[in-house]
Order: sequence, then C-alpha cells, then structure tokens
Amino acid sequence: MTVTRFAPSPTGYLHIGNLRTALFNYLIARKAGGTFILRIDDTDPERSKEEYVDAIREDLEWLGLTWDRIERQSARLERYEAVADRLRADGRLYEAFETPTELDLKRKKQLNMGRPPVYDRAALALSEDEKDRLRAERGGHWRFKLDHARIEWADGILGDTSIDAASVSDPVLIRGDGQMLYTMASVVDDTEMGVTDVVRGADHVTNTATQIQIIAALGGSAPRFAHHSLLTGPQGEALSKRLGTLALRDLRAGGVEPMAILSLLARLGSSDPVELRGDLSSLIEGFDVSRFGAAPTKFDAEDLGPLTARVVAALPFESVAGEIAALGVPEGIAGQFWDVVRENIATRSEMAGWWALFRDGAAPEIAEEDRAFVAEAFALLPPHPYGPETWGAWTAQVKEATGRKGRGLFMPLRLAVTGRARGPEMAEVMPLLQKPLAG
Ligand code: GLU
Repeated sequence: MTVTRFAPSPTGYLHIGNLRTALFNYLIARKAGGTFILRIDDTDPERSKEEYVDAIREDLEWLGLTWDRIERQSARLERYEAVADRLRADGRLYEAFETPTELDLKRKKQLNMGRPPVYDRAALALSEDEKDRLRAERGGHWRFKLDHARIEWADGILGDTSIDAASVSDPVLIRGDGQMLYTMASVVDDTEMGVTDVVRGADHVTNTATQIQIIAALGGSAPRFAHHSLLTGPQGEALSKRLGTLALRDLRAGGVEPMAILSLLARLGSSDPVELRGDLSSLIEGFDVSRFGAAPTKFDAEDLGPLTARVVAALPFESVAGEIAALGVPEGIAGQFWDVVRENIATRSEMAGWWALFRDGAAPEIAEEDRAFVAEAFALLPPHPYGPETWGAWTAQVKEATGRKGRGLFMPLRLAVTGRARGPEMAEVMPLLQKPLAG
C-alpha cells in the first residue's frame, strides 16, 4: 500500500514551491489508490503558528488536494523520546557540547586547511566528568553517529545517487533544550506511519542520506525517495527571495484558478508538455514522477494568466451561477450573460465589470474624428430594449447612411457602446444592455 505525506512546517504561508512537493506526493498516493497524509512539522514551538496550520489546510482545500489523515508532530513528542532512548542505548546518539560559535570556528579552520567542514566528533573523546561539567555549564545537544560508509539509493528523479557518509556531519537530532529536530521527528514518523514514497526538494538530498542510515538503525525500511529540482524565476534566477510573493493565497486572491496552477505544476520540469486538465482525476492518471528532470525548473507566474482564462472560459454555468446571481444579474438572463462574457474575461472577478457595463452603460470612447459619425449613427439607433437583430439592423442602416464599412464602421460603434476595443460579439452585447444607449 502506497503511503505519502506532505510535511510543511507551519511557519509561513504555502507558496508555489511547497505546492510542487504537495502535488507530487498527492498524485503518487492517489494514482496508486494509497494514502496521502498531511503532516504538520510543528516541533518548533517558537516558529510554528496555529494561524499557518489553518492557512495550509485552507490553501490545500482550495486546490482540492484532500488528505486522508492529518498528523501533528507536536502530538508525538513521546514517540520521539522513546526512539531517542533506543538510539542512545545502541550507542548511535551521543551528546556534544560545542556552541554555535565554536562550531563555526571549527568549520572555518577546516575550510582554511582545504578540508570539508565536517563535525570532527570531538565530543566522543570526552570523559564522563568532562561531560558532566559541560552539561552543567552550557547544556548539550544530541548527534546521530553516522556509519562512515557510502549511502546509496535509487532516486525516483535523480536516478542512482550516493553520498559518502564521511563527508557529512553527524546530524543533530535533539537540541540542547530538548527540542526534537526535524530529522528525528521526520524519520520516526516516516517509519511508524509506513510512508513508502517521499518526494521533496533537491535541497533535502543530504538529509535523505543521513535519514536512510537512521531508519536502518531503527530497523525500518527506507521509503522510495525522489528529489525534485527547485523552481527558479523565468530568467533562471533563484526564487527563494520571491517565494513570499508567490503565496498560494495571493495567487488565489489574484483570480488564479486551481486547475490552472495544478495543470502547470503537474508538468512543469517534466518531459511532457503542459496540458490544461479539467479535473484532478485526469491529472492523476497522467502523472509519472520519473518524467521529471533534475535541472532547475523555470517558473513564470505569467503563465498562469492564459491558463486561468481558459479554465474560466470552460466553466459550466452551474459553477458560476451563484457568483452571477450575487452580482445582481436577473435570473432570466444569467445564462445568456455567462455565455457572452466567458471568453472575454481573464478571471471570474472580471464578470463584475461586464455586468456593470450591461446594467449601467459604459463611458463611451469616441475619437475626435469619429464624433460626427457616432452622433449620426446614434440618431439611427432602434428603440430599447434591443434584441439579437438590433446590431445587424442598426449597422446596416448606418452603413447605408454614412458609407462606412468594415472596421471603420464597427470599431467606433463598439467603442461608443462599450468603451472597450475588445469584447464579446456586439450582436450579443446589445440584448444585454439594460438601459437605452444615450446618443
Ligand atoms: N518540514 C520539512 C520541510 O518543509 C519537510 C521535509 C520533508 O519532506 O521531509 O522542509
């Protein structure tokens, strides 16, 4: 049985980079008919906020990425303590006492000597007396003692991957104040929750190597790992600083449609073209994590615009009927209104502008050289209410009276009636106008 998890830390709002991870794990679980766990990595009580937990749930719900179970690491601290005791008893967890400044100094010295900045395990040489003294003086933290061997795994995206454990510092699993750190909590959860597949960003590759050893030390079997590349901006620039502006809630507020964002992210960085899908189930069917490449993936938020417009244009009336009614569009013309505007809006919220125009009329746009022409045309306008034939009959008459034709005939009238150069067919606009046009 396939079990995946999406494990955000509730220290901020989800952004497009997080969504890539969430979506891949979701799609893998759903495709296999397995379980998708939302795991809240909240072992850091200072940085974790309940408000962000709510926001994460809300954002995933908006996208339709439903989870089968929610787990919170803060509710599982006893489990981590029990595992820490086991690792201590097995001699795999040792207490170290270096302060961050001391560690920094060590690293600088190593780098100066051209050596990799790997923790030197000085703490292993401390006597019990020295440890007691240091513990009383400054408190200690706990490191996992890596086995200095090559760690290998078949990565679902990177292919065969290996890291020499001797090139990695023994990871700190427990902080001086007793706080369980990410590696510890994550490994215990992945093992105890039977997680079979973990997809996460390429920034976790080294973590994966150490986690594979810790899982083995616990007698567990490692999940299949896949590390997706990190997203960059359109020019290949790092996105990390801009991710704050790519929060899912901001995209939502900007009118982006869930299927636009999901369709894009389910393919971006893969060898398959982006295809707009109508629902999650067709995305699930077409998903294959092995199609993704290791190279950084360019993401351009601008791409969401045209995709959103296409999603909107394809929405059935029923899914917008509520919003249309809320705008005050009379029920009798609501369906007609939707058919007329659907292809002419970039986001749902743009419906409001069209309705205001149909209801109240627009401020006409009339070029100086068209003034006389428009005045003459308006004198020929049939009486309100306008019907489906009004536009054709009117413009035929105007053509005859003025000799104008084609764009020179239609564009000034479109601008005079709607105030916009582009929009729905004028024959369809006229019947929706609720008030007579003022000449
Ligand atoms: N909370 C971790 C993060 O957001 C989870 C990483 C993982 O998937 O293991 O980076």
